[in-house]
Parts: sequence; C-alpha cells; structure tokens
Amino acid sequence: MLLQPLMDAMSRQQIPEATLYVIGTPIGNICDISLRALAVLDAADVVACEDTRNTRALLGTYGLAKPLVAAHQHNEREVAQQLIVRLQKGERIALVSDAGTPGVSDPGARIVDSVREAGCHVVPVPGPSAVVTALSASGFPDDGFRFVGFLPTKNSQRLEVLNSLKDQSATLVFYEAPHRIKAMLDALTGMFGPARRVMIARELTKLFEETWRGTLSEAGDWLAGDSNRMRGEFVVLVEGAGVDEVLGNDEEVKRILGILLESLPVSSAVAVAVRITGQKKNHLYNLALQMKASGQ
Ligand code: SAM
Repeated sequence: MLLQPLMDAMSRQQIPEATLYVIGTPIGNICDISLRALAVLDAADVVACEDTRNTRALLGTYGLAKPLVAAHQHNEREVAQQLIVRLQKGERIALVSDAGTPGVSDPGARIVDSVREAGCHVVPVPGPSAVVTALSASGFPDDGFRFVGFLPTKNSQRLEVLNSLKDQSATLVFYEAPHRIKAMLDALTGMFGPARRVMIARELTKLFEETWRGTLSEAGDWLAGDSNRMRGEFVVLVEGAGVDEVLGNDEEVKRILGILLESLPVSSAVAVAVRITGQKKNHLYNLALQMKASGQ
C-alpha cells in the first residue's frame, strides 16, 4: 500500500537509456530496497547479476521478471564487453550482486571500470551494504573508518594485515565467514590487545539479527555463550587505536613529540623526532596528528 505521493514520485523518475545502473539490494530484509531501485529494475532491458537463480528469485519477490546475464568473479571483463555493446545500442542495464552493494567484497568493480573506460554512462542507485549498516549501529567515534573486508585465509598473511592495522585510529570493519569467526576474534585479540572495543554484527536485518558490543577479551565468551551465535553472516568492527595505546608505554617518545609540537609544525616535529627516537616516520606522523587532535 504505497502512498499516492510516493507512486507519483516513482512515476516521475528519470531513467535515461544507454546507462549502467549499479544497484544496492537487500542484505536480508526484502523491504530494504529503495523505490528508485525498483523503478530502475522495472525499466531495465537486462539485469547483470552474480547468480541468476538468486536474482530471479529476488526480482520475483517484487513481481518483476527480466532477462538476466551472469556476471561473476571469473567472467567480469568478458561480460563487460557484451554489456558495452548493449549500452552503445541504447539499452538500460542494471548491475546487482547477490546481496548489498556491487563492488563491495562482491563482483562489479571490473564491469564498472570497463564500462567507464569505454566512455559509457554509469549511475549508482544506493542501497544497503553490510559495512555501513553495521557501522551505523556501532556508536564508535565518527572520525573515519577503514573497510578491510575479508582477511586473507592464510594465517601468516592474516597476521601481516592485522599488524599493519594495529595503530590505525579509524574504526576497522571486517567481513567474516562463520567457520572462521572464532579464529578471527582470537587473532584480533592477539594483535590489538584485550581492552580494545569490538562490535559483532550478526545476521543484520534478518530474523535473528544480533549486534553485541564489548571488549575483545569478552568476545570469545559471548560467541561461546550460544551455539547459534556461530551461524550466519558477520561484520566485525574494532574501535581504532587511541593515542595512549599507539604510544604504548613509551612515555619518552610522547614527551619528546609533545615538546617538539609546541614550537614546530607537524612535519618538522616528526622529522626531528625520527632522528631522536629512531622510530618510523609514518608511525610518528600518525601519533603527532592524534596528539594534536586530542590536545596532548
Ligand atoms: N556486497 C555486500 C555488501 O555490500 O555488504 C557484501 C558481500 S560479501 C560476499 C558477504 C559478506 O558480507 C558476508 O560474509 C558478511 O561478512 C557480510 N554480510 C552480508 N550481509 C550481511 C548481514 N545481513 N549481516 C552481517 N553481515 C553481512
């Protein structure tokens, strides 16, 4: 039962021909699709999608049936060439993934890249994405986030990535599969320490949605508290490193940087601090910015 003004707004949508529309679709709850997305899907000549069975079912939910083209991880560039020919003939093409926003840990980016390189028009039609959905419910500080997505499955590569992230002040956002969630939380605790705050978002927008927030030291117990918690889809958010944490217990480094920052611009203070302490420039630069931001 749509309100008449919404129906009118939908019928007035401009949906130009010869355009690739990149459309976000639900990550669980089928009602999380925009009216504009439905209008564009309805107007599309063809829908390029990750898995034709899933997309046929999704479109059917909304009473739509469209010709589909499979565009998955292994054929994106070839499919892009076919889509470019169709766009040049003036067709409207919708690009969707199985769930959420195409190109976010999903196929789509290579198609968009090729289509743009060919000089064709690309229009985003925003919709859900697990990263932003989880972030919005985290309450972690609003000073940027770093979307990491899936960590490498190999342990050594995983630790390497985590090590490169441990001094980041931005909130870190990970995707993880259920069979790796426990090992992942252990690795996060080992690398970031037990006191860091974490939010685990499970089955977002679905019947058994859970969002739990605590410290990394508590996360293992929460996960083990109910066998159902190991099931489903996960987003894990880790609060960024605070200044004190990044500086560790090295009060001397902090003291030196603080004195230099009183009378020098950041870049000069960092250059001198590198010579005095022997620490890495990037590391000290990040610390200096954080110290300034927090008034230390
Ligand atoms: N393109 C999607 C997006 O925009 O979020 C992501 C696709 S990626 C292949 C699938 C991963 O996203 C899952 O393994 C999980 O980490 C996360 N995810 C997707 N839907 C989710 C949901 N409803 N709840 C929690 N995490 C979800």
